[in-house]
Amino acid sequence: MESTTHTPGTEGFGLRARAAGCMFKGICFLCGNMIGVGDTVAELFDAGNERLGIVCPQCIEAGDGGAATRARTHARRLREHGERLEQVAHSLASQGEVLPTPPQAEAAGIWGDREQGGET
Ligand SMILES: [Zn+2]
Repeated sequence: MESTTHTPGTEGFGLRARAAGCMFKGICFLCGNMIGVGDTVAELFDAGNERLGIVCPQCIEAGDGGAATRARTHARRLREHGERLEQVAHSLASQGEVLPTPPQAEAAGIWGDREQGGET
């Protein structure tokens, strides 16, 4: 497969590739897909040269128009998730006693193997 590399320069809005340095998993800034990153990572920068995030191979393959559609779909899902979070937060705050207290959680074996820390 022939690969095309778009290198818009080192500043301004565009996609740049760099050596990842290590293997990691991340979320595509555009579409929200979880991806595994190997040797090279593609990163999107805004016009002010601020790093926005990593971009998955599917968004790159989709091209500018396809990636825009994927980004809009992701934005809609995030808005819906935000609305759902607001509903859940309202329920948690108004209903109370939904989540167990830390001792109750420990007794129930929830997060039993987590590292102890924080404010005790
Ligand atoms: Zn993507």
